[in-house]
Formats: sequence, structure tokens, C-alpha cells
Amino acid sequence: MTCTEALELLLEAEPHELARTTDSELSRHLRDCATCRTSAARILEAEGVLRRRLAATAPVRSADDAVELARRRHVRRRRAWRLLPPLAAAAAALVGIALWRLRPSVPGVPLQPAARPPDLVITAPAGRNVLVMTTDNPDVVVFWFF
Ligand SMILES: [Zn+2]
Repeated sequence: MTCTEALELLLEAEPHELARTTDSELSRHLRDCATCRTSAARILEAEGVLRRRLAATAPVRSADDAVELARRRHVRRRRAWRLLPPLAAAAAALVGIALWRLRPSVPGVPLQPAARPPDLVITAPAGRNVLVMTTDNPDVVVFWFF
């Protein structure tokens, strides 16, 4: 093998060939030729630097870890969506209580507690039910959408 032929193979050679640990024609040439061996050593050194820099910038997670993390995030998102309806219902109940307490009042005229809540028409969202709970406090009525 000539040096020209060896130099053409150097850039595509496997590291173990460049390290002269195989019995390939290129490895044999590198054992005998100091000039090509120096070139091979430079390529190995550059590959080592590149490998270390990639390792330093790459995430420490393996592909399996990344998939598992993505799966857990997906489950968490699904759980968050499951929590949303009860939270929305609780928020609606609070809004109902707040609106109930914001009855119009006339200054100087004391409010009389209502004996029972006025007739209300409450429409539950499609596919949902609503429960209206009166309390001992006539100012507080709980609307629970479920
Ligand atoms: Zn050579």
C-alpha cells in the first residue's frame, strides 16, 4: 500500500485500524510508515476531542430515559386534565357563592335573609349534571357541576 492510498483510507478508517490493532492492510502500513502513523494519530486525537465535547454537551439521559420521562410527563398532563373538571366545578361553585352574596342592596335598608333561595334556573354544561346545595346560611348556596 502506498502512502497516497493509505491517506485516502485514513479518513474513513475505524479507530481500531488507526490504532493499528487490526491486521488490515492499512494497519500494517501504519505500523511501517511513520508519516501515515502521525496522520492516523492526529485523526484519533481529533476524534477523541470530538467525542469528549459531544459527551459534555449531550444530555446525560439515554434514549430509554428520555422516552420514560416523556411518558411520565404525558401521564402528568393527563392527570392534570382529569383534575380540571373538579377544579372548574369548584370554581363555578365559588362564583355561584360570590354571585349569591352580591345581591343588590339599598343603602339604609337592612337585608332580610331569604327564607329559601329564589327560584333559580341553572343549566349544567352539556354532558354534566349540577347539584344545588342550600346551606343553613341563606346567603350561601353551593352549585356543584359534576
Ligand atoms: Zn505511509
